[in-house]
Amino acid sequence: MHQSTGSRDAATAFPLPDLADDAAERRQANRAIAWGAAGLAVTGLVELVIALSSGSVGLLGDALHNLSDVSTSALVFVGFAVSKRVASERYPYGYERAEDLAGIGVALVIWASAALAAVESIRKLIDHGTTTHAVWGVVGAAVGILGNQVVARYKLIVGMRINSGTLVADAKHSWLDALSSAGALLGLVGVLLGASWADPVAGLAVTLFICHVGWEVTADVLHRLMDGVDADVITTAEATASDVDGVRHAHARARWTGRTLRVEMEGWVDADTTTAQADAIGRAVAARLARALPDMRSFTWSARAV
Ligand SMILES: [Zn+2]
Repeated sequence: MHQSTGSRDAATAFPLPDLADDAAERRQANRAIAWGAAGLAVTGLVELVIALSSGSVGLLGDALHNLSDVSTSALVFVGFAVSKRVASERYPYGYERAEDLAGIGVALVIWASAALAAVESIRKLIDHGTTTHAVWGVVGAAVGILGNQVVARYKLIVGMRINSGTLVADAKHSWLDALSSAGALLGLVGVLLGASWADPVAGLAVTLFICHVGWEVTADVLHRLMDGVDADVITTAEATASDVDGVRHAHARARWTGRTLRVEMEGWVDADTTTAQADAIGRAVAARLARALPDMRSFTWSARAV
């Protein structure tokens, strides 16, 4: 079956109910992520310019960290842009995996930033390098603290309003990142007090924050490339389906392609169930699952006879 209009996916996909409220909230969450990323980008760039002109490696590390966070947010939007491309016969599942490929690139860039920050810090420590314009460095670190705090507050307010766990977690991340900027600040205050080693030591501490981002991004990308999902998804899907009238037993599998959660369900029904009834049962399962698993964008239903 192939329709000439619309995507191949739309022509063959099992019908899912339209949850308009969720779509509106997702748009608000995306807008908050975009504004947060823009704020962090400005913060990171101001820090980078001051870091390069003052020679502060602590501030350099903090700037690279903030810009790494921006690149992970940017990845979400690359995913949205690419996944709009319609599935074809050559790519029947669409183009969403492009986001995971881009994720590998982002992970490499973040680990490279961590290596750069570490190398510059160690080199400065060994060479007893000096920090010129340490006062400007202090201003840069203060921008880092302020930028992260403002972004954290903003994400928290929007996250609480639309009840988005992701956004609230993101807010906590930005709040913690203000500590990284505070570390860079501490190093520069140390320099002003005469301890020239304080800046490279702060640089090494800040490097650990970049490694943390790198680890999170890498683990997430590898999990998705291995078709991993949270175990909760499977148990929720099977429990929800088993609750639907006519379903005796259910087995689920699920995986992500980009931001699309694809759920495949085998449902055991009574042997005398007609094809039309089995289809109706499948629709009932889809309707309940769409609420239980809001990320589910694709559902496959196979009815089996008990
Ligand atoms: Zn961060």
